[in-house]
Amino acid sequence: MARQQQRRRPNHNRKARTNTFHPKVEYPKTVTYYEGITVGQLAERMRRNSSDIIKQLFMLGQMVTINSTLDDDAIQLVCMELGVTPTKEESVDLQSLEDTVEDDPASLVARPPIVTIMGHVDHGKTTLLDTIRKTHVVSGEFGGITQHIGAYQVAVNGKKVTFLDTPGHEAFTSMRARGAKVTDITIIVVAADDGVMPQTKEAADHAKAANCPIIVAINKIDKPEKNIERIKNEMSDLGLLPEEWGGDTIFVELSAKTGEGVPELLDTILVVSEVADLKANPDKFASGTCIEAKLDKGRGPVTTLLVQNGTLHSGDAVVVGACFGRVRRMSDDMGREIKEAKPSSPVEIIGLNDVPVAGDTFRVFESEKQARDVAARRAQSKIENERKGSSAVSLENLSSQLSAGELKEIPIIIKADVQGSAEAVRQALEKLDVSGIKINVIRSTAGAISESDVMLASASKAMIYGFNVRPDANVRKKAEEEGIQIRLHNIIYKVVEEVEAAMKGMLEPVYEEVVFGQAEVRQTFKVSKIGTIAGCMVTDGKMLRDAKCRLMRDGVVIYDGVLGSLKRYQNDAKEVTAGFECGLTITGYNDLKEGDIVEAYGEQEVVSE
Ligand code: GDP
Repeated sequence: MARQQQRRRPNHNRKARTNTFHPKVEYPKTVTYYEGITVGQLAERMRRNSSDIIKQLFMLGQMVTINSTLDDDAIQLVCMELGVTPTKEESVDLQSLEDTVEDDPASLVARPPIVTIMGHVDHGKTTLLDTIRKTHVVSGEFGGITQHIGAYQVAVNGKKVTFLDTPGHEAFTSMRARGAKVTDITIIVVAADDGVMPQTKEAADHAKAANCPIIVAINKIDKPEKNIERIKNEMSDLGLLPEEWGGDTIFVELSAKTGEGVPELLDTILVVSEVADLKANPDKFASGTCIEAKLDKGRGPVTTLLVQNGTLHSGDAVVVGACFGRVRRMSDDMGREIKEAKPSSPVEIIGLNDVPVAGDTFRVFESEKQARDVAARRAQSKIENERKGSSAVSLENLSSQLSAGELKEIPIIIKADVQGSAEAVRQALEKLDVSGIKINVIRSTAGAISESDVMLASASKAMIYGFNVRPDANVRKKAEEEGIQIRLHNIIYKVVEEVEAAMKGMLEPVYEEVVFGQAEVRQTFKVSKIGTIAGCMVTDGKMLRDAKCRLMRDGVVIYDGVLGSLKRYQNDAKEVTAGFECGLTITGYNDLKEGDIVEAYGEQEVVSE
């Protein structure tokens, strides 16, 4: 290597001397790098173009792109070639930088609860949020133009309560899918004149899966058609038994429209919150979650953050997901500029370099440089995690996750054509017990596999079993994006067998056939030593060298074998696509005739279905 370096040096210098268009650039002679640095990031540190590094590695036989991560060897090689001395930075790993040190109990003070309202469409969520906001805004200044920032705070008997008003369940589930835990209390709204509906069930599933205290708000009690007993019955069926029936779920009856019962709901929230003993330490750098973000034409990225610990100050250097910046301006839910925000406050900030995603966590750092570094590394590890795929359970990773102790129970969602089958599958699965590990069925309902199932699966790192039902293309795509495995079956014991085998780590890989293409034999030639060569026209897909093949005559498979050679004109070809002619042989088989169809096929492992 040293010799190579000497040989190249003069070249490099000559080029620098003769190239008069470029001012002589002083490249740094040393560079520091960290584990997982990318080509682009290393180039920036070396003050060179990424292409310099890509070129060097290419000459050394490595193909990389600007986003590839480099290992120590590759970095050493590149640096040697470019005459730079590399030093590896002591790995200040993300964890240690980001670790929130356990707070000293003495530093903890009570913080307001963060409440999410969920429920079926039209059951009154928005009306309830509006009513609460109108009557209880902290400053009593309501009436002006209030801005929607995704959350607001109200004062109830001198105590603050934070409400998330991001509409629908998506916000809640997508945040949970990203590992963010923002909600302390969930209110499930059910209209007294309508009863438990699909989204009511979903809300209950989500709240239970998030292990979040639930308050059931029976709404629209001003309506004469109300039937409160029925709601209580139906909610009990979901496992939410009212206190007065011996359960532990608090039910509040109210009318979001007239305001009746709303004060009782707010009191209940305070009681539940007191029991939950919610605390935070306001005397440290702030951390929390992004609940909304958008790009504003004039102001750039505008982000709503929910401070969950510490205090956020304007001017703080902050990392949100993989974005960073300084808090240039911070305002509260009334649009008033503020200088600091305590735990459980929602604030809108500007000053980030990019738009983060709802559910991203944020944290304040000592300096903007540190924030920038952490953001860069988060971006990198995000890419790597995406590459590695989601950590949702799948049949293939079950046994390794189990043996690594990562899983204590296996979350599964069951969808079936009829409720009876869903129940049957659930009961059969729940009986399984492999070395103390159990199946936790977080939803089992009748109906097609929907996007909401995928979102719940993603939020709970679950896999989905479809019994006599199939997902449509959109759902399938969504599942792929989220890394959720969907398995489809129509025999109960097969489901049980499969899950059990996967838990025991004895799953046989499943293969399915893929047809690559078909070709029609137009002419045959007999060549001694080689055998029969068929001159074909590829009529569909493509023929691949070394693929398995079937020979079909009049629709009947007469031989099953392997393609011997594949030629296009005189040359060996890897593949020949539809519309082109090719010459081929079938290994060990010579009885090819004009008009025969050769089908090339292969098998691929079924990773998810
Ligand atoms: P969301 O889809 O859950 O947000 O429901 P909305 O808040 O938009 O309410 C749907 C409809 O129900 C609207 O027409 C509301 O005016 C009405 N509504 C909401 N709460 C009440 C209530 O307590 N009583 C009556 N009578 N109507 C209500």
